[in-house]
Amino acid sequence: MYITEASKNPIKVDRVSCSCCGKKQNPLESFSEYKINKNHFYICGKCGDLLYAIKGAKKENNKDAELELKANVEKRMKKGGNKDFQTWYNKTF
Ligand SMILES: [Zn+2]
Repeated sequence: MYITEASKNPIKVDRVSCSCCGKKQNPLESFSEYKINKNHFYICGKCGDLLYAIKGAKKENNKDAELELKANVEKRMKKGGNKDFQTWYNKTF
């Protein structure tokens, strides 16, 4: 079997880690990819759901939910992640 051009694609071959919590991607897991300014972030499913929920809570002006969700994200960030992502997060949320 020959290696095709597509399978040499570095995004497919290298397992990325979540820019938020630092978790390594599992082969069957899909990470969301975000391009923010010049940065390239990969976000795992759980962190993605939390960020989405924070946006929702903000929209509904639900302060309690927002604070709880943020505390959750910030706890995950302590496990690892990417400094540029954290800077963006702190500016955005
Ligand atoms: Zn994550």
